[in-house]
Amino acid sequence: MADKKNYYDVLGVKKDATEEEIKTAYRKLAKQYHPDLHPDDPSCAEKFRQINEANEVLSDKQKRAAYDYEQEHPGMGGANGGFGGFSGAGFTGFTDIFDSIFQGFGGGAVHRDTTGEDINLQVTLSFMDAAKGCRREISYSRNEPCPACRGTGAKDGTAYKTCQKCGGKGQVRLVQDTMFGRTVRVGACPDCGGKGKIVTEKCPDCKGRGYVRKETKLSIDIPAGVDTTSVLTKHGYGQASTSGGAAGDLIVTFRIEPHKIFKRNGMDLYVDLPVPFMTAVLGGTVKAPDLNDVFDFTIPEGTQSGTEFVLRGKGIRGRTATGSMHIRVIAEIPAKLSREQKAALEAAAGGVELKNYDRAKRYADTVSALYGKDPFKK
Ligand SMILES: [Zn+2]
Ligand SMILES: [Zn+2]
Repeated sequence: MADKKNYYDVLGVKKDATEEEIKTAYRKLAKQYHPDLHPDDPSCAEKFRQINEANEVLSDKQKRAAYDYEQEHPGMGGANGGFGGFSGAGFTGFTDIFDSIFQGFGGGAVHRDTTGEDINLQVTLSFMDAAKGCRREISYSRNEPCPACRGTGAKDGTAYKTCQKCGGKGQVRLVQDTMFGRTVRVGACPDCGGKGKIVTEKCPDCKGRGYVRKETKLSIDIPAGVDTTSVLTKHGYGQASTSGGAAGDLIVTFRIEPHKIFKRNGMDLYVDLPVPFMTAVLGGTVKAPDLNDVFDFTIPEGTQSGTEFVLRGKGIRGRTATGSMHIRVIAEIPAKLSREQKAALEAAAGGVELKNYDRAKRYADTVSALYGKDPFKK
């Protein structure tokens, strides 16, 4: 390039100029040559463009280092002769230099296949299915990689070529002139849409999309003890990638229906067990339910209503832990009694002295201390 200008010369600074010096020089010159101030002088527009170009490189540490490197090692810039070679399409000539330098450090191409999107699916389970575990057939629709073209979108999976514009990387540096100067951003290649490949003949099955919409059926094993915070992931059962990458994941969460008598907290089960009040008074054996059957549960004599019994190991058997069963005894107080039953009860309860019980004694003592009256005295 005959008109290649040294960026330091353009800004009128020394090669070892500080960032601040470069900034000051750029501002001064940008103001001086701004095209809005010289609408009739096209040379100002060109000068303004050069100033922005120089500033864009010299104000960026990495770009400046690469530029200095290129100045000291001429000929490393490839076919276009290095810096200053701006193609008509608005791409900077140093893109290639940057890429080759950065690839030397990082290795590999810039382009990466993107993984397909995940699919979230909520499965509703009965309380028992969640507690005991189950197998579920689920079906959902998703984009599957097209089998005819193996997800490439090209006929037979081979009818494509590498994109010329990005060299197969899928990314390019886009340079834009704005009112604030020249900006560079890395974006998806406009020619290939970021795929790095250009299909020469589309796959007829998927019309070049690379995926087909399909109803997917899947059998999933749901372990005992899943709850509403559980997440089950099936890798590769999400949406197909649109750029040749792996499919996303299927992410299953659960809604669990409430149960009529059981409640749970983690692996622990809770049940209210109604018993005849006489059983609570005298003690006895009743049937209590667990997750699989009923079992004999013995209530000791004199059990207060609301007393909770904890049976270890009788809760949910999860993969890593087994919970407990919490049985709360509720003594049912009869609401309808015959005259004879009432008489018999009164006779039986006549000798019961409340003050013999800790709770009642504490209550009576406290009320007496407060008001000087015995609450149990008739
Ligand atoms: Zn491309
Ligand atoms: Zn296809």
